[in-house]
Amino acid sequence: MNQSPAIRHALSVKRSEDFAQWYQAVIAEGDMAEESGVRGCMVIKPWGYGIWERIQALLDAEIKATGHDNCYFPLFIPLSFFAKEAEHVEGFAKEMAVVTHHRLIADGKGGLVPDPDAKLEEPLVVRPTSETVIGAAMSRWIQSWRDLPLLTNQWANVVRWEMRTRMFLRTSEFLWQEGHTAHADKAEAMEETLKMLEVYRAFAEGPLAMPVIAGEKPENERFPGADATYSIEAMMQDGKALQAGTSHYLGTTFAQAADIRYQDREGQQTLCHTTSWGVSTRMIGGLIMTHGDDDGLRVPPQVAPHQIVLLPMLRENDGDAALLEYCEGIRKELAGLSALGEPVRVLLDKKAGKATAKRWAWVKKGVPIILEIGGRDAESGQVSVLRRDRLWRSDAKPDFAVRPRADFIADAGATLEDIQSGLYAEARERRDANIRRDVADVAALEALYGEGSDFTGWAEMVWSRPTGAALDAVDAKLKAHKLTIRNTPMDGAPVSGTCPFTGEPAVERIYVARSY
Ligand code: AMP
Repeated sequence: MNQSPAIRHALSVKRSEDFAQWYQAVIAEGDMAEESGVRGCMVIKPWGYGIWERIQALLDAEIKATGHDNCYFPLFIPLSFFAKEAEHVEGFAKEMAVVTHHRLIADGKGGLVPDPDAKLEEPLVVRPTSETVIGAAMSRWIQSWRDLPLLTNQWANVVRWEMRTRMFLRTSEFLWQEGHTAHADKAEAMEETLKMLEVYRAFAEGPLAMPVIAGEKPENERFPGADATYSIEAMMQDGKALQAGTSHYLGTTFAQAADIRYQDREGQQTLCHTTSWGVSTRMIGGLIMTHGDDDGLRVPPQVAPHQIVLLPMLRENDGDAALLEYCEGIRKELAGLSALGEPVRVLLDKKAGKATAKRWAWVKKGVPIILEIGGRDAESGQVSVLRRDRLWRSDAKPDFAVRPRADFIADAGATLEDIQSGLYAEARERRDANIRRDVADVAALEALYGEGSDFTGWAEMVWSRPTGAALDAVDAKLKAHKLTIRNTPMDGAPVSGTCPFTGEPAVERIYVARSY
């Protein structure tokens, strides 16, 4: 953190100067995504999409290991499917894109307009989430207790017409997985809800190296139609919270709406209890704001599309062939290794261009290890190693280590593992240092976030879990400072004292924060 001022960082804007601008710069300079011309819809470029593919591969394996099968459901959902569940439709109505026509005709002025003769009998909603359409399928697929539990997942795009959009974090179209399950009773459905929350926690803290708090959302932040919503919440480097994933216990609400029933062992027709859970491309935004620095992104090795990039210092002369052969030998050896439970992903970057320009492009993308290899290295059997997590020497020069090739290869796997755990430890330490646990009353909370205070982290407090109007009152007090309750952690730690909002005995802890 305390870098010498002489360092010339790769990005033109620093986190400390303008965090929002810095975030955009990481995405642009790291070649991750760009605006598409349609508000809220982004083009995800190879490096950004490569990270998403890593997230998909690792999470998909966990989803399957917990017994779920992937399916695919239609993009268009009949409007009437939503009308069956009042709370659900109300929650999503403001953000739904609707298809009303299936043909255009010339307007006589050189343009095209929807053909009035091609109006759909029933409007089709572009899915904002698929509970309704998957519910209809569950109703067909489930007859008896033998069909339960039904455990499905789909990888898809969804559309929510968001007004305040930001690349990866909140887009109008985003990519995600959505799990949907049906169970015989509440106990099983709750077990599933919490199991998948734990899968998300482990995934965030493992491959993404992003510490999170797993907990329950207050009732006013529940998913529309859910009986209970759980989330994982991560602290970004500006102190704000990011809801990085959610898992919902839906009770029998959606089963009632879509008629998902089963014949139980006694022959009775019984409503199923359902769950849903999802994480999206937002996780990439979380990754950037957790691990990025003033030189761009730092991708944790487990989700890095390439973990090691070899940069031959090509001279466009006769020496290049021998240099490339030397590099190819190293590439092969590295690709034969395994680290963090998988084969090492290594790229030999032979593209034309100045070696230093290529180096900085990879630094900004955040590839964990860069090897620069020149003709002299090839002759003497060496490599120059740059670790993305410790880029600078104390004299403000890039911290290259010149090492014998065999030595580097021998501990390359361990180095990747060290980078992975180091990024987690750094983020965890920063988060823990930015949680205040001494906020005893509302006045202290208001002082902490009020005018003149530069605190931007989270407050961990206790409360009495008020509901209804009492919760609305708490919410209004917090909103005045742009704060929300993120969740109530589920670590089982004992709670004592008085609720600072209601004066009643406290029953659980809450995290209060500003959020994305
Ligand atoms: P939900 O179905 O509302 O519980 O959303 C599931 C997850 O998708 C959330 O926890 C977020 O991580 C993510 N998400 C929700 N809205 C957006 C959005 N507009 N852009 C990107 N990700 C989103």
